[in-house]
Amino acid sequence: MNVFIVYWHPEPKSFNAAMFSTACKVLAETGAEVQTSDLHAMAFDPVSSRKNFQTVKDPDFLKLPLEEMHATKVHGFSRVLEDEMQKLETCDLMIWQFPLWWFGLPAVLKGWVDRVFAMGRIYGGGLIYETGVFRGKRALLSLTTGGPEDAYLKDGFNGDIHGILKPIHRGMLQFVGFDVLAPQIVYAPAHMNDEQRKQELDRFGKRLMRISEESPIAVGRY
Ligand SMILES: Cc1cc2nc3c(=O)[nH]c(=O)nc-3n(C[C@H](O)[C@H](O)[C@H](O)COP(=O)(O)OP(=O)(O)OC[C@H]3O[C@@H](n4cnc5c(N)ncnc54)[C@H](O)[C@@H]3O)c2cc1C
Repeated sequence: MNVFIVYWHPEPKSFNAAMFSTACKVLAETGAEVQTSDLHAMAFDPVSSRKNFQTVKDPDFLKLPLEEMHATKVHGFSRVLEDEMQKLETCDLMIWQFPLWWFGLPAVLKGWVDRVFAMGRIYGGGLIYETGVFRGKRALLSLTTGGPEDAYLKDGFNGDIHGILKPIHRGMLQFVGFDVLAPQIVYAPAHMNDEQRKQELDRFGKRLMRISEESPIAVGRY
């Protein structure tokens, strides 16, 4: 199995960093080929612009989808984006490791999606959802929160976590064809003691050992 882990956190000693290194270690031990993008270490620039491309379709007006379709035809994506796209294209399972920020992806990871999920290459031309380019591949969100678990239940003060994650699950991952696995969520690691945090890392590691046997969660039913 080829696994691609996209990870962002600004602190290398964070709990997210520990989850990222747990995933790399455990998956490698299962014999998986693991490729990673540590977006903070890479100083990944999240801002979409002409630097996405080595080619130019229209020098007078920047319309990103048109430049993306042109770059798809003429192999004109920047080296940085080409590398990310190839990691996406060769993986069987993609994992995103991140802290929940403002009920969504932190900006650098969101910008990675903006830049890498390019029209023509990653979606479009009728290839979306069930016919998406990445059908047959699976994706897993692995995230941490500041708020406690009961705040993210249906009647909790933040509302159902599955509703909060739906724009990512449906609008990004399923949109480009991925099957989505149940998210791995560690609620409020900052409020745990070391022993509880270690248990969470063990729980994640044990799940990853058998991740190839997991079935996706149902489309549109969460
Ligand atoms: C801009 C912003 C927006 C936010 N929006 C939201 C939001 O919408 N909803 C929400 O719920 N929260 C929100 N938060 C909070 C955020 O989600 C949490 O702070 C974050 O998820 C906690 O994860 P962490 O990796 O940063 O934890 P850390 O604070 O890095 O880690 C927690 C503890 O784990 C320890 N640790 C690290 N490695 C290990 C290890 N190997 N073993 C044991 N312990 C270890 C660390 O030393 C630390 O004491 C937001 C925060 C910010 C800054």
